[in-house]
Amino acid sequence: MKDLYDVHGRGETIGFGPGADRLKAVFDQITATARARHGDARVEADLLSKARITIRFGTLNNCLFDERNPAGAVCLENAIVPDGHTGPLEDRCRPDRCPNSMIGIEHAQIHEAHHRTQLALLQTPGLPACRKALITREAERAEAVLNKIRGTQA
Ligand code: SF4
Repeated sequence: MKDLYDVHGRGETIGFGPGADRLKAVFDQITATARARHGDARVEADLLSKARITIRFGTLNNCLFDERNPAGAVCLENAIVPDGHTGPLEDRCRPDRCPNSMIGIEHAQIHEAHHRTQLALLQTPGLPACRKALITREAERAEAVLNKIRGTQA
C-alpha cells in the first residue's frame, strides 16, 4: 500500500477503474490531512495504516472489497455464498464492471491479449450461434476493461 501511495505521490498512475479512483481519493485525502498538520512521512504512514484499506492483488485486477461495506460487489450478486465464507468470490470477479475493481498497469497486457484472442476466435468459420454469443460477450467484457485503461469509459 505504501508503494502505491508513493507512486501516486509522484504523480504516476497506480491503476484504472473505480477501485483505483477510490484509492487515489483516499491517498489525496491522506496527503492533504498530513499537510494540514504539517506532518512528515511518518504522519502519512500512520494515516495510511488507519485508513484500513483492504486490497487483494489478483491476476486480472486488484480488489478493494470492503468487508464493512460489501454492497456493490458484483461477484456476490445472485451468488450462493459457501457457508462460513467471508469476502469476495474471486472466481466470479468482474473487472469490467465492479466498483471495487482496480486494473493495475500490470494487468493491461492480459486484458489486451484476451481481447485479441476473442476477436480472432470470432473469425472462426461456422461458429455455432451460442458459441459466437459467448465469445462476443467475452470480447465485450475485455473491451470494457480496455476502455477503462484508455480512459474512454468511467
Ligand atoms: S467482483 Fe472482483 S473486484 Fe469486485 S468485489 Fe468481487 S472479486 Fe472484488
